[in-house]
Amino acid sequence: MTSSDVPSGQATPAIRTADILIVGGGLSGTLLAMQLLRLPGARHIVVLEPRAELGRGEAYSATELGHTLNGNAARMSVEPDDADDLTRWLQAHIAGGGWPESGVQQVPVAELFPPRGLFGVYARQRLAEAQAIGAAQGSSLSHVRDEVIDLQTPEQGVIATLKDGSQWQAGVAVLATGMFPAARTAQRQSSGLNAAALDPWDVQALRALPVDARVLIIGSGLTMVDALESLNQAGHRGPIEVFSRHGLLPHVRRQPPVWEDFLSLAPDLRSPLQLLRELRRQCTLAQSLGIDWQAPLDTVRVHIARLWSQADDTQRRQFVRHVRPWWESHHHRSPPQGDALLQRLLEEGRLTIHAASLQGVDSSGPRIRLRYRGQSEAVWIEGDGLINSTGIEYDWRRVDKPLPRQLLQRGLIRPGNLGLGIAADAGGAVLNAQAEPVQRLFAMGPPLRGMWWESTAVTDVALQAKALAERLASL
Ligand SMILES: Cc1cc2nc3c(=O)[nH]c(=O)nc-3n(C[C@H](O)[C@H](O)[C@H](O)COP(=O)(O)OP(=O)(O)OC[C@H]3O[C@@H](n4cnc5c(N)ncnc54)[C@H](O)[C@@H]3O)c2cc1C
Repeated sequence: MTSSDVPSGQATPAIRTADILIVGGGLSGTLLAMQLLRLPGARHIVVLEPRAELGRGEAYSATELGHTLNGNAARMSVEPDDADDLTRWLQAHIAGGGWPESGVQQVPVAELFPPRGLFGVYARQRLAEAQAIGAAQGSSLSHVRDEVIDLQTPEQGVIATLKDGSQWQAGVAVLATGMFPAARTAQRQSSGLNAAALDPWDVQALRALPVDARVLIIGSGLTMVDALESLNQAGHRGPIEVFSRHGLLPHVRRQPPVWEDFLSLAPDLRSPLQLLRELRRQCTLAQSLGIDWQAPLDTVRVHIARLWSQADDTQRRQFVRHVRPWWESHHHRSPPQGDALLQRLLEEGRLTIHAASLQGVDSSGPRIRLRYRGQSEAVWIEGDGLINSTGIEYDWRRVDKPLPRQLLQRGLIRPGNLGLGIAADAGGAVLNAQAEPVQRLFAMGPPLRGMWWESTAVTDVALQAKALAERLASL
């Protein structure tokens, strides 16, 4: 174990205390704890996380070997100042007999796309090392396995109430509650889809489908690719029908050469439509020179947070309406293994992609029926199984869970830009209903989607963890 598990709710009813409470022990909470433990000074950090292991969260609890990172090892270090950290860790891990299947990819270690479950092992190891550093200077970390259902900010500090009724008090708390996957999240206004659909990451449920089942999938992004991988592993041989509004599939991730950072040369370029026009021009230019269009696209990533936070709501809406589907399929690219499977299924004629909007779901009969509308009138299609791969619910007002509900009701948080996640200042202090920073309550990672647009990837979270740890240590 990388953390000393504290049995939740078995101590005296008195409020237990810590210096810093981290709500959520996925990658965000774990990297924040890791950074805090390394900083000088003695502090007791408590991570409140119902899962058995820290560092995994939704993404890195994956058990399927084919559920890999969508970037190679060279792009996925948890150390913002050391891009080769994951590559070196993998080299040592493979040399020690770990991940024997890595040889199949036949590329240098830096170019491997590791299984996400293995990435979780890496994150946990880095946390364990930080615990040893912290212990030497009097810092400690405890993992309390429970869900936080409420947070209050009395005159001093923050009090967290857990599901079992126990409470923790600390000087500050950080919301590292991650993403709310649409398939797993009770929603205040349900379309009925979740009641009928399988969770794309529930490997057992996908294995239980008959091998010749006709499978219907809603959503055509990377989550759908994960579902294809699990069906394939389960020996599925039946037809698969995928529905999404634009019918766009993720492009495959290649290793493009370096391209000039054209956005840093064009500081006046601000609106999403200007950006898209210039990006298209650069991609065409690259292709005319025989260079992969992914090269110019990859230079945009570092500018996204700045461009999004500088934009006004009209421009942000323009981006979401007109650019987002394109951005998702071109930027959030598929690992090569997932793409190879996708292409094979298309070639075999087993996979059909429909650009269509979902009109209704009927699961009352022996087969599931979907009503969808493509170019012409709405039609029904029948299947033996339905998978909800629509991705993530970012609007906390729609999430039917105790903590988001309580925080909104108490006015301790307010929705982020365009209702995405929650609002915060540039250093992560959340804004209350009056738009004032709550100096004792912070957030990081996916909850800050409205603030930065891209606030979920490993590199985003790693950078935020380092900056936030420094801010908290200076309070
Ligand atoms: C399936 C998937 C694959 C991904 N693949 C990649 C990839 O290949 N490359 C990449 O760069 N990024 C990827 N990402 C994005 C990113 O790396 C992850 O989203 C990242 O793990 C975010 O970590 P997190 O801790 O903020 O969120 P999460 O992983 O969602 O973890 C949040 C944790 O908070 C806990 N929690 C929530 N509410 C409470 C509460 N009230 N009380 C206590 N605990 C709570 C949850 O139990 C959970 O463990 C992926 C994301 C997903 C979902």
